[in-house]
Order: sequence, then C-alpha cells, then structure tokens
Amino acid sequence: MKIGVVTSGGDAPGMNAAIRALVRYAFTQGFSILGIERGYAGLISNLIVPLDPRSVGNILHSGGTFLRSSRCPEIRTPEGLAKAAQTLKTNSVDALVVIGGDGSFRGALEIRRVSGIPCIGIPATIDNDVYGTDETIGFDTAVNTAVEAIDRIRDTALSHERVFFVEVMGRNRGFLALHVGICVGAGVILLPEIPAQMNEVCRKLKSFEERGKATSIIVAAEGVGNTMEIAAACEKSTGFEVRYSKLGYIQRGGSPTARSRLLADLFANEAVQLLLTGAQDKMVGVQGGHLVATSLGEAVGREKPLDMKLYRLAEELAV
Ligand code: ADP
Repeated sequence: MKIGVVTSGGDAPGMNAAIRALVRYAFTQGFSILGIERGYAGLISNLIVPLDPRSVGNILHSGGTFLRSSRCPEIRTPEGLAKAAQTLKTNSVDALVVIGGDGSFRGALEIRRVSGIPCIGIPATIDNDVYGTDETIGFDTAVNTAVEAIDRIRDTALSHERVFFVEVMGRNRGFLALHVGICVGAGVILLPEIPAQMNEVCRKLKSFEERGKATSIIVAAEGVGNTMEIAAACEKSTGFEVRYSKLGYIQRGGSPTARSRLLADLFANEAVQLLLTGAQDKMVGVQGGHLVATSLGEAVGREKPLDMKLYRLAEELAV
C-alpha cells in the first residue's frame, strides 16, 4: 500500500514531527510513502517526492513544514479536483493523509469523493478551531510563544504603569486568545464568541485602577475586529495610556513544544492504525486524554464550542 501525505493551509509547529512519525510508523508497517509538496497545489501539479525514514531525519524540532504548504483555490474547482485525482492515480497512491485545519479537511472530503481513495485527517493548526479534538498540533507551541512575548510586554507595562492591548491570532475563533489570556493573567480577554461592550471593558479597567492595579493587559483575538481601533477607543474613553501590540506571525513559527511533538507522534500513529483497519474518511483527535476518530464530515460540519468554564475562571482571577 502506498500512502500520500500532504500538509495544507496555515503551517503549524509540529507538522514536521507529524510527517516524520507518519513516514516512520508507516514504514514499519510495510507501507511506502509519497510526500506531496506545496499542499493541494502540488497535488494538482504532481509535485511528488518519495519519503523514507532517512529523508525525515533532523526535522522533528523545526517549525513550519518541509513539504511546504499553500492555500490553493483551484482545489475547489471540478478541474482542480480532477487533476488531483489524476495525480493520485498516476502515482498509484492508495490512501491520502492530510495534515492541516478544517479548510484542508473540506478539501480532503472532496478529493475522497472524486478519487475514491481513503483520506485521513491529522489536525494541525495554531488556532485549535477543529471540531472533534480538544487540541490540534501546534496549538500548545503558539500558546507558549504568545505567553512568552506577553510576559516581556508585561515588564514594560509594569515599569510604566500602562495598559497594554495585545492582539493574538486565531482567525475567527478565540481558542488561542482564551488560553493565552488566562496564562498571562489578562485583565480582559476579548473573544469573537463573546461580544463585549466597550463601556463595560472601560469600566473594568477603571475598577482595576481603583483597586490599586497599576497595569492591565488586554488580550484580544484577531477575530474581534479592528483591534487597533478598539485599543484607541479604549484609550480615549478611559484617559489611560494604552499601548497596542500585534503579535502576528511570530506565533506561527518556532520549534514545537514537547507537547506539540508528542501529539504529532500520537496522531500520526493513530492515522496509520485507522488505515490498517480500513477507515475511509476519519480525522484523528484527542478527547479527555484519549485518542479518538471523528468522521471528516462531522469534523468540518460542526462547530467546536469554546470552554466557557475556562473563560469564567479567567474573569474570576482578574480581580
Ligand atoms: P486550514 O486547513 O488551515 O483551515 P485553509 O482554510 O486555507 O486552511 O484551507 C486549506 C486548503 O483547503 C486550501 O487549499 C483550500 O483551497 C482548501 N479548502 C478550503 N475550504 C475548502 C472547501 N470548502 N472545499 C474544498 N477545498 C477547500
């Protein structure tokens, strides 16, 4: 059996660890592995490299994806899908493993429909916004990167007794901002799932000051809108000096944490196990500490709920 592996959509730290684990475990099971370069674009234009245990050496610790990735609009067209199916056929690929986020899994479902071969998803995105898994590969790394950066910002915030407003990534969801917010002790966490009233945010900042808090950190998810404007409005309304910082792409890169690497190993192992048992369209995941498989259709069709208990705890701790 020949397995194709592709990394697609936004890169996440630990994608390399997942490719390495997949190649090595599949090898021990007697499979051969083909790497598809540049995401679905490479599937359409036949960019294929054979992979073996040696060709994935020394990549475990590096961020990004050595196969490279892309956002490829052509895969959404019947012509693009037909070309992708042809590439899989030409290279005698029997199953496809897609490492990416929910957009990539939507693509995987289409590829499965057109090509007829099994497709298994491994969730890897710093946004952690995939239904069917408590955590995605790369999320823990991004949380740690953002926490380290905001700890540095806090040094300045403390020295100058200012309010700092920090935007973190997460696309249209607030998972990253919530985890980062609670871990840096943010006074306010702004999430797309919980619309906030500006006057309520300002009231909170004022009450912090009245209670002797000389400095406050606001963590906002990029999905809440124009965070720079929100920060400016906050400054105007409170009269406090508000400094704005957008962490941006530093959250995407960097060496994966031990936790992201371990998740990559476990997910890759489970993906091969699923193929061995004849699975056709599953996504691997972890729920309550146990490895689970969810149908790809369910993974892309349902919305992952935000952990409201964690949000309430963050609020309770910000007194
Ligand atoms: P992620 O996988 O990180 O969510 P994207 O949303 O950018 O990233 O999607 C990655 C790839 O999946 C792109 O090549 C995109 O064209 C493809 N894709 C996204 N949504 C769909 C869809 N509804 N149908 C088919 N392909 C899709």
